[in-house]
Amino acid sequence: MTSKACVHLAAIHQIAQPTRRECEECVKLGGTWVNLRTCQTCGLTLCCDSSPGRHASTHARTSGHPVIASAESGERWLYCYADNLTAMY
Ligand SMILES: [Zn+2]
Ligand SMILES: [Zn+2]
Ligand SMILES: [Zn+2]
Repeated sequence: MTSKACVHLAAIHQIAQPTRRECEECVKLGGTWVNLRTCQTCGLTLCCDSSPGRHASTHARTSGHPVIASAESGERWLYCYADNLTAMY
């Protein structure tokens, strides 16, 4: 952890929760995933970088949505791709 300020994480006051526990892109493509992440800008739930599709990081790169939250039950953290920062909540 670093103390460097992240405007993206600081702007989040309510965590967007996953509406479905599946990666929307993997479902379309018939793929599988390891863990799920929810985009905090648009609420899309996609798979993590340990998954073959890596759809959450692709979404962050192509859409410019920097912050995801873990969509795994029991995990309470946010991650900012732009600043490479994790924050517990
Ligand atoms: Zn940030
Ligand atoms: Zn996926
Ligand atoms: Zn998004």
